[in-house]
Amino acid sequence: MYASTHRPTVAKIDLAAIRSNIKAVQAHIPTATKTYAVVKANAYGHGAVAVAKAIAPLVDGFCVSNLDEGLELRKAGLEQDILVLGVVLPEAIPLALAHQITLTIASKEWLELAQHENALIEGLRVHVKVDSGMGRIGVRSLAEADDLIVSLQAYGAQVEGIFTHFATADEADTHQFEEQLAFFTDLVSHLQRKPALVHASNSATSLWHSETIFNAIRLGIGMYGLNPSGHALPLPYHLKPALSLETQLVHVKQIPAGAKVGYGATYTAKAPEYVGTLPIGYADGWTRDLQGFYVLLDGQACEIIGRISMDQTTIRLPKAYPLGSRVVLIGESGVRSISTTDVADKKETINYEVLCLLSDRVPRCYAD
Ligand SMILES: *Cc1c(COP(=O)(O)O)cnc(C)c1O
Repeated sequence: MYASTHRPTVAKIDLAAIRSNIKAVQAHIPTATKTYAVVKANAYGHGAVAVAKAIAPLVDGFCVSNLDEGLELRKAGLEQDILVLGVVLPEAIPLALAHQITLTIASKEWLELAQHENALIEGLRVHVKVDSGMGRIGVRSLAEADDLIVSLQAYGAQVEGIFTHFATADEADTHQFEEQLAFFTDLVSHLQRKPALVHASNSATSLWHSETIFNAIRLGIGMYGLNPSGHALPLPYHLKPALSLETQLVHVKQIPAGAKVGYGATYTAKAPEYVGTLPIGYADGWTRDLQGFYVLLDGQACEIIGRISMDQTTIRLPKAYPLGSRVVLIGESGVRSISTTDVADKKETINYEVLCLLSDRVPRCYAD
């Protein structure tokens, strides 16, 4: 799908902010730590290739969620390590080998399936995943980890890393975090053949548990300047949000008291009101649950009135503004601002989801 560039709706991405966020995190962790930038899901909506190219000199590698995301980076000429965090089916092993993409191996069953399908894993670069309590993917005991590493090596795979993932690193209650950490630390210290790279830290762990980093971090949301906990825990140091979302007024009118707005006629004007229309809707990721939320125009909050439709959103204006007036949905306008986390709060979700929902229809415009 083409991005809709003949429309004023645009996501502006500040690549310099992403670089300064990476540097800020790196300044607060041990210097020998490797940084893997998590650019899965199109770099959380920021554009995987553009972001990866902009930060390549600052990081040791990239994490993606599936093989295709890794192939996209290779096709764009990126040469660093690429680790696929999810499970890749054995049938795709030749592609991973051909493009030097590192796979996560999360079970002995995967290896058995690969053997059953006569897939050759000679030379395949892999990291073994440990499920220390997240309950998603990974081996759940030292015996399983040892067995998997030895078996992978017996078939010629290069076991370069071992890692785990925390479920609650962004919470004030550290109980489960401590349990997972103790389990993983103990497991790693008893491995028969310990891989060179050991990693466990997502953004939340890097920010709030920087003393527990092994020798690499997997930095996602923090690099994009957002707080992994939403508003729950304060950031230990400043990060700058990299994405803003803007559009322009494309229609302005005055409606009389009693006039309705939008599908379902859910909004009724209480007095004569000015209504502005924005060329953005749920097909852009600006979802219907944002009815009743607000946008910024000229430094003022304007309520989203009526249902958000697929391609258009209506707002109440304090007065008649000219067509083309700048409207901020995420970002700053005058002294006011709306953060991605504010949008997430209204939707009762997390800032990650707001970013990932921004669809391909919205052009990404880069500043450096
Ligand atoms: C997405 C992901 C990360 C990055 O998480 P952030 O909270 O965005 O830093 C790290 N590790 C794994 C396994 C992931 O799936």
